[in-house]
Amino acid sequence: MEARLFVGGQWVEGGTRIEVRNKYSGEVVGTIPEARREDVQAAAEAAQRGAAAMAELPAHRRGEILGKAAELIRERKEEFARTIAAEAGKALKYARIEVDRAVSTFTVASEEAKRVHGETVPMDAVPAGEGYFGFWVRRPVGVVAAITPFNFPLNLVAHKVAPALAAGNAVVLKPASTTPLTAVLLCQVLEEAGLPAGALNLVVGPGSTVGEWLVTDPRVAKVSFTGSPPVGRRITEIAGVKKVTLELGNTSPVVVAPDVDLDFVARRCAVGAYYNSGQVCISVQRIYATREAYDSFLDRFVQASQAMVVGDPLDERVDVGPMIDEREARRIEAWVEEALAGGARVLTGHRRERAVYWPTVLTDVKPEMKVVAQEAFAPVASVIRSEDFEQALEQANATEYGLQAAVFTRDVDRVFRAIRKLNFGGVIVNDTPAYRADHMPYGGVRGSGIGREGVRYAIEEMTNIQMVVIRTGS
Ligand code: NDP
Repeated sequence: MEARLFVGGQWVEGGTRIEVRNKYSGEVVGTIPEARREDVQAAAEAAQRGAAAMAELPAHRRGEILGKAAELIRERKEEFARTIAAEAGKALKYARIEVDRAVSTFTVASEEAKRVHGETVPMDAVPAGEGYFGFWVRRPVGVVAAITPFNFPLNLVAHKVAPALAAGNAVVLKPASTTPLTAVLLCQVLEEAGLPAGALNLVVGPGSTVGEWLVTDPRVAKVSFTGSPPVGRRITEIAGVKKVTLELGNTSPVVVAPDVDLDFVARRCAVGAYYNSGQVCISVQRIYATREAYDSFLDRFVQASQAMVVGDPLDERVDVGPMIDEREARRIEAWVEEALAGGARVLTGHRRERAVYWPTVLTDVKPEMKVVAQEAFAPVASVIRSEDFEQALEQANATEYGLQAAVFTRDVDRVFRAIRKLNFGGVIVNDTPAYRADHMPYGGVRGSGIGREGVRYAIEEMTNIQMVVIRTGS
């Protein structure tokens, strides 16, 4: 694909072309121009005009456009899935699921576009409010900068673009430089769906230049970022007075009580740990099994890990493709080496060929090891023995992150203790922390970020409350 940037409703050239490669074969699958400073400025200006046009569009029209976009994504499902599999290295079966989820995200947004509203305020609840009538409405913020990571090049873009448009905003989108082609397809879809010119703009290039120009542009009213914690911190430092949503990393824990079907739990944990080569912000990383469950769980989990088919993501049978690049695969290989040198044991995996790293199970790890304390973002999971359920909850909670955590148990008292104890944006019971439905509130506490996505909740973050007070004269 010889792609272009999308600015003010036009497909335009920019600076030198970036090559986008198939992450498994290394073959070039497309090129796209890198945006220069003037391209980013033109995109921000176009978005300002787009925002004015969007604010004039009635809710039913916004809903219709988003609904049409959902339909067009469904029609082009295979093209989207193959593009994701090639440029992100995601196994085709999971790339198809990502496309289905993006259809859901746009469908929900088409419905939520018609439900952006405020409420009345009982002004006379205080003496100063007597004789006044009050209500508030939600107003679009204007221009939203959407900065997205490589690991879900469609659905994480959808989680910013769809609610922004549903609320009547315009967007400048900067996808990860490694995976811009899926974003190009999405812009084509929205153009065909009838979106006004300038309502969605696409710029591509490194975060350190293009990303920062966008974050600091005074025309941008809101930055919605999904990516790594260091970049998230940098954005809060340079954004200035803007609304900021940050969806960052996690070291997702799972607590396994002995009262569950350990075969099922092991299989679910393996999928949660290894799909997309563990490059998922809620990927299973730390599994705390209670003393009674530990041995049986570990056996089953090793078996389930070994059952994963590793290889070319475009092969229908494959579960685990390459990581985003060889450097990342070498990075996790070094982390595992470090853990082994510190006394950890590897039970399966720890094999690398170019960017492919095999599903790896560790045990006898220590809390301070990188594979436990930092976001692994790789197909590596550690199984840790806990004395009992209470200790497992303590260990799960002992992290600087707080996106999602999970517990497996059939005991309702344990479920409620877990809900109270776990300081995470989401607690999943009887499935893994990797579970997400696209309309639920989703986001982290502590080092995992600020704000929530999940269409309706993103709309709240992408609008301002405008209060109206009317003196009634009586
Ligand atoms: P990065 O933080 O490296 O990049 C994310 C995006 O930010 C890319 O588009 C990148 O551009 C851009 N960027 C990089 N530096 C800057 C900067 N200084 N200013 C503005 N933008 C910048 O993350 P990855 O792409 O490697 O994604 C992995 C991370 O994303 C993991 O930590 C993961 O946990 C997190 N994530 C969180 C999710 C959540 O919902 N909480 C979901 C999915 C992932 P470029 O790459 O082109 O340089």
